Amino acid sequence: MDKIIIKDLEIFANHGVMPEENALGQKFLVSAVMQCDTRAAGMSDDITRSVNYADVCKLISSEMQKNTFKLIEAAAERIAEAVLLKYKTVREITVTVKKPWAPIAMSADTVAVEITRGRHTAFIALGSNIDDKRAHLNGAVGEIAANKRCALKKVSDFIVTEPVGGVEQDDFLNGCIEIETLLTPHELLDFLHEIENAHGRERTVHWGPRTLDLDIIMYDDLIMSDETLTIPHIEMTNRRFVLEPLVQIAPYAVHPIEKKTISALLKALG
Ligand code: ADP
Ligand code: MG
Repeated sequence: MDKIIIKDLEIFANHGVMPEENALGQKFLVSAVMQCDTRAAGMSDDITRSVNYADVCKLISSEMQKNTFKLIEAAAERIAEAVLLKYKTVREITVTVKKPWAPIAMSADTVAVEITRGRHTAFIALGSNIDDKRAHLNGAVGEIAANKRCALKKVSDFIVTEPVGGVEQDDFLNGCIEIETLLTPHELLDFLHEIENAHGRERTVHWGPRTLDLDIIMYDDLIMSDETLTIPHIEMTNRRFVLEPLVQIAPYAVHPIEKKTISALLKALG
């Protein structure tokens, strides 16, 4: 991917753990490497098709100066997010915040923090089989879309499916969405749990009736598993009620473990 680079932008600001640092301030050096496709701007020689680095410099210096952080980690995080929120064509940004005059009472060229943040594509499966199912699903889609760190890309049809797992209960309404998000997998899971809870989700019967179930199906081509989160979703390959709506919006998405498209996984279910 192409890169637009800003190196060692000098900014006087007041970040630091020591009270003197917040009062007196010091010079920081900020670098940003932004991944974005510059082809259209390059072919047309038109600045409106690129990311204007002069504007990015202004944004970085304003974020650095309007806040007083204890940590340069926080300053870097804020800058990365501000750029990603404002410039949708930036796929990924690496921000380095250097503090050459950090009060460490020793000689060092600089101390610095470097972080890389970017947009991630996630697929979320939605399900409901209590109350007004369609209202729960539409509500959840709206609440996800309203999060500034999530952009709604695609929404499948909502399909009626029969319950699986042996518990006697009403039919489900199921759907899938594609989002682009700045949230990490665990932040996304926490956010989805908040929405489930707001819809009165109770966890009583395993695989039992629910007002709203929101599962992370895939997140980029990430493969991970810990106590609270497994990605890709462990059951997705067996669940017609996930694959059928998913194939509508992402037939060519590839399951990172199976190395098969969603369309092939659905066919394999028979
Ligand atoms: P299910 O969706 O399997 O019917 P729940 O919605 O009650 O059941 O989820 C139980 C737990 O599964 C969640 O609290 C969450 O920690 C865990 N979990 C593991 N992987 C995922 C995933 N990919 N998406 C959503 N939840 C997950
Ligand atoms: Mg769930």
